Amino acid sequence: MSMQATPTRDKTGLRELEAADRAYVLHPSTQLKAHAQGLSGGPEIITGGKGSVIRDARGREFLDGFAGLYCVNIGYGRTEMAEAISRQAYELAYYHSYAGHSNEPLIELSERLIHMAPSGMSRVYYGLSGSDANETQIKLVWYYNNILGRGSKKKIISRHRAYHGSGVMTGSLTGLPVFHQAFDLPMPQIKHTLTPHYYRRDREDMSEPEFSQYCANELERMILEEGPDTIAAFIGEPVLGTGGIVPPPEGYWEAIQAVLRRYDILLIADEVITGFGRLGVPFGCERYGIEPDLITLAKGLTSAYAPLSAVLVGDRVWHVLEEGADRLGALGHGWTYSGHPLGTAAALANLDIIQRENLIEKAHDTGAYLLSGLKEALRDSPIVGEVRGEGMLAAVEFARDPSSRLPFAPKHKVGVKVYEACRDRGVLARAMPHGDILGFAPPFVLSRAEADRIVETTADSVAVVAHDLHKSGIMSEG
Ligand code: PLP
Repeated sequence: MSMQATPTRDKTGLRELEAADRAYVLHPSTQLKAHAQGLSGGPEIITGGKGSVIRDARGREFLDGFAGLYCVNIGYGRTEMAEAISRQAYELAYYHSYAGHSNEPLIELSERLIHMAPSGMSRVYYGLSGSDANETQIKLVWYYNNILGRGSKKKIISRHRAYHGSGVMTGSLTGLPVFHQAFDLPMPQIKHTLTPHYYRRDREDMSEPEFSQYCANELERMILEEGPDTIAAFIGEPVLGTGGIVPPPEGYWEAIQAVLRRYDILLIADEVITGFGRLGVPFGCERYGIEPDLITLAKGLTSAYAPLSAVLVGDRVWHVLEEGADRLGALGHGWTYSGHPLGTAAALANLDIIQRENLIEKAHDTGAYLLSGLKEALRDSPIVGEVRGEGMLAAVEFARDPSSRLPFAPKHKVGVKVYEACRDRGVLARAMPHGDILGFAPPFVLSRAEADRIVETTADSVAVVAHDLHKSGIMSEG
């Protein structure tokens, strides 16, 4: 793969475009002042892509080891997707789905989702993002308990280091301090329990199953302390994503679900990352024996070719909502763009591609290949504490002393340094927002040669950063 393709603009045109970005755009998850003043090196303007490779306005190419934000699962530049969206735009670009209105791709997609989803799902509600879908989940849970006359059963338990979005409620569900700081979050109805990360356990003397049981015991302790009749739901990602790409410890979901059943607490499975094959199986619930009442989907639903999210409502909740309609009338919830035809048409075309090209099996195989390559290449690194993953998700966690799991001081930004070294060598990973963790979530179409390139580039970059850390005395800091 060449690192230099043809730039899309001349130098002056590009400088003007970059200046306009700094002058007018408020970017998410960006240091606003550094960006506005041109001190951050940005904007990084992406102009195109094909397969697992993206191109920027300066003509540079990068192997995208994170599929955008774990979402371009079928890869970039699929003309079939553009054609499906365009066909639908010519036919019917928009009509709403309020008061029973519908459209063909919306109906077809809903039937397909219910048939392919984990068993027990009954209806689909659509949004445009993972955040708004989880916002809907909380409202449905509250509505459900109000119909049942359980006015005090409203609190939601999430987990430290969870990521469920950045709205008012969903930002509260998220368990990462940067999403709360100066936003007056979390809201008081949201509680956070333990992160199921065995490597970061605070007691040495526990096996993995014991640690899972310890997490379940802590959950139960919180439920009893708050009062079981105040806890409405538990929300969790099958594999913790943005909090560090952490597969659950052995027996975790079994132990957690036993507690939830004991206290009649609904389970929301947030499959925004894991849905549609990222774990090498269609859904994370199937992989871990999770039996959810509600499921959240986004990202891989359209491979991000159009914004679309979905809330799958299980039988237990659906029947109560249906009963409530006699008393409450029409559901007082909806977005103008719920079930947008361009999004649902994109989802159908995306699911066709995944099925036709066996991309879930491919994610399973290439993901296992990538993970074993990373483990092998980083086995003897003096700064790597843990290499972990599941399906087409992987993470490398850095530690100042891998044997004692001692982390680096956050000010050294070791994860960011390795990310930058990889980027300078043409490979994009993600410096995860919490801890010194480098994440990978490539498109499912990643070839083995591309996986090799990710492994080699990561190993080189880690070695360079380790060398610099030694030279600057950080490795021997007291
Ligand atoms: N839930 C999970 C598990 C996610 O990873 C994300 C985004 O990364 C969200 C929800 C929020 O989705 P969005 O960014 O589309 O609002």
